[in-house]
Formats: sequence, structure tokens, C-alpha cells
Amino acid sequence: MNEEVNDTRARDRNLLDTASSQDKTEIQELAQEYLQFLRQNMTDRERVQWAITLLQKEGYAEFKMGQDAEVKPGTKFYYMNKSKSVLCGIVGKTQESLTVVGTHVDVPHVDLKPNFVNEQADQGCVTLKTHYYGGIKKYLFATTPLLMKINSMKDGKVLVQTIGDQPDDPVFTIPDLLVHLSQNQSERKMREVIKAEEMKVLAGSTKGEFTKFSDNFLKLLEERTGITKKDLPYCEFQLFPAYPPKYVGLDKSMIGASGQDDGICSFAAIKALQKLHAPEHTSVVVFHSYEETGSNGTAGAQSNFMSFALSDLMDKQHITSSKQRNIMSNSVAIAADVTALFDVNFPASHDRLTAAVLNKGVAIARYTGSAGKSGSSEAPVELIHKIIQNLKKKWFQMESMGINGGGGTTAKYLSQQLNCEVIDVGPGVMNMHSPFEVSSVYDLFATVQVYAQIMGRE
Ligand SMILES: [Zn+2]
Repeated sequence: MNEEVNDTRARDRNLLDTASSQDKTEIQELAQEYLQFLRQNMTDRERVQWAITLLQKEGYAEFKMGQDAEVKPGTKFYYMNKSKSVLCGIVGKTQESLTVVGTHVDVPHVDLKPNFVNEQADQGCVTLKTHYYGGIKKYLFATTPLLMKINSMKDGKVLVQTIGDQPDDPVFTIPDLLVHLSQNQSERKMREVIKAEEMKVLAGSTKGEFTKFSDNFLKLLEERTGITKKDLPYCEFQLFPAYPPKYVGLDKSMIGASGQDDGICSFAAIKALQKLHAPEHTSVVVFHSYEETGSNGTAGAQSNFMSFALSDLMDKQHITSSKQRNIMSNSVAIAADVTALFDVNFPASHDRLTAAVLNKGVAIARYTGSAGKSGSSEAPVELIHKIIQNLKKKWFQMESMGINGGGGTTAKYLSQQLNCEVIDVGPGVMNMHSPFEVSSVYDLFATVQVYAQIMGRE
């Protein structure tokens, strides 16, 4: 173990200040590209499609389960799964082990209910009824501009449309009670400052040619999207914060945007894969969805997609099933997810000796979970040494998430699917699950370096 990692004095050292000019150029370019990624890709479908578009340009071929394909060292491949998860990678020179970097592409947000158009007597407008997705502080989504993503079926394919991402586009918002009338609300506990049933969204306040606000809204929606009233319950409507991603701080050292959990790891994993050429071991990046609701379903990390796809890849290499099981068990897997950054306003919620700090590189967590490590998957000392032996000290910090709480990642599901050891590796994020999460441009850069180095391990 290197001597500086848990040395509190070293925590003052700022790695962005001491980065070489070559690294600083890469840090800036990466941050710029990351801002664009965040702006253009918010949903799981969009992030999967972003990866595929990028990979196809670089010669990655789509593999389908059960179909023959020529596979040799250096072959670049991807498997799609239900448009909401994807497994991609490069075939290695040896057949002993795999390296898997698993991220998630779903983001806490607000969904609309199947019958969401709501018009109550005397409310003076049309509102939309919602159902929130993932662990959020509900009050943070009130008085926030929200854009709308709409998934509908057109000619047998999913059509994705957005309202609210262009400068002249309207947005939507959940109203909150003015402070002058909030005497009763101010007595509520944090979880109930805004209750789930108080998350109705403002969507229009004119009737046009109709006698009802809702009819005018439906007409305008159809004009804009082609979706008719009878189609509404069969489409997916999702609301995300409409704040454009921005640099934070005069030195532009941080990035503020929603969807960085776990967009930053998904983006970094693909950038890391792009750095690889002919890895020793087959290197794989997998995007799962539904992490924020328990990793369930066919696109979640609890599904068999990952093991099915890896088995199929090895079938194509004519590897026997008993050897396949051995290869999977010998694999190294990274649960690539964000962790908590030390919050300057809530220092007591962190253990100062182990909290991740800005500009100190990617955080490596031996375990996650909460209370008595509940829900965790603990990495053994053998794996930690294997992971860090080739890493530069400036790229990582060892951390554990905090006190009074905690959270799980896909680590335990990756380890159960493959029967291999897994470790959590990802950058810290402040304001996690809020409409404006904050990360560090240096930590993003370090995350790419670390994932690339782990996937390229000898
Ligand atoms: Zn996450």
C-alpha cells in the first residue's frame, strides 16, 4: 500500500494544480466533451445509444447471441440489451480472465403517471401527475425548471423526443408554497417538505378554443409530438432538470449538472475503452439500468444479460463451458459508480480520514453498504493489491462513504453473476441525486486513467 494514501497531510495537496501541462490539456478536452455528453444524454436509452454510436465509428461490431462470428484477439464487439443496457469490449490475447467495468445509466428523475393529465375545479391551469424514480430529496425538484423526454412507438421503433432543451423551448416546473404561507410546512420533516402527491407539474394555463385547460394542453402536445390523447398511457414521459451542465468555480475546476451519478463513470468507462488496443485479458464495459430502483428487471444488474453475453462471446471462441466458468471466476470486476465527496457544509457527516476529497483522483472503496456493511460486497486484500499495484498514486484515494447512512452499488450483483471479486472504483460527487450534482474535472480525468489502466492490466 502506498504511504501517502491515508496520510491526512497529503489531503491538502491539489492534483489539478500540480498536473503536467500535457495532462491539463487532456483534462480540459475531456471536461468539454463530458459537458456535451451530459447535455445530450440524460436517459438510459440515450446513454446506451451514445456509446453504440461512438463504438460503431471505431469498428465495433454488433454480436448477437447464438450467431457465429469471427473472434480473435483485438476483435471489438458489443451486445445490446433491450435498448437500456449494453455490453461492449475488446477481445484479449489470453483466455484466462476477463476485466469488467460495470456502470449504470439510469438517473433519479420524475416520471409521469400513465394517466397524468390533471385538471381540478378552480385550479386555473392544467397539471401533470408524477411518480418519482430513485432516491431523491423531493423538495429539490420543486421550483426547478424541468425538461420532458418522451418515448413513443413509431413504425415499430422507439421515437425519443425532448421538450425543454433548446433556448427558446418552454420548460415545466413543480410549484412550492411561498414562504409567507409556509408556517405549517416548515414544521414538516425533511422527507415530507414536498410529499409525493404534491409533485404535480405546471403544464399550461390557457384553454384556447376549448372549455378545458387539459384539452388545450392535449392539442398542443399532439401538435408538438404527434402523440394523441389515446396514445398517452402507452408512452413514457420523464422529467429531468433543465439546467444546462456548467463549469463551477472561477477556475472551472468543477462541473455541475444532473445525471453525473452515474454518467461520469459511464462516460469515463467508454473513454477508457477507447484508449485500449490489444489488452492481455478481454476487457468489457457494461452499462446497466435500474440501479437506482434496485437493479431489477432485464436491464438491471441482477438480470442474466451480462453472464449470457459473456458466455456467448466465449462460445464464439469455442471455449468449453467448464473453462468459461473458470475464466469468469478468475475475472476482475469494477463497480464503476460515484461516491460521496466531502461536503463543506456537512463535515460531521463524513469521516475526515476516509472521505473522498475534490481533486484527489478516483475513489477506491473496499466496501460500500450501510450500517454493519449491509448490502455491501467487500473486496479482499488480494484484489486491492492487484488493482493498485500499477496505478500512479496521484490517480486515486482510498475512501469509505460516510457515517449515518451509506448506499449500495451493483458490486454485489457483478460478483454474484461472475463469481469473481469486485471493487468499487469511481469519482466523488457532491449533491448526489440532486438536480445539480458537482464533480471535479481532475477526478474525471483520473477515473478515465484508472479504468484504462485496470482494463489494460498485464
Ligand atoms: Zn450510482
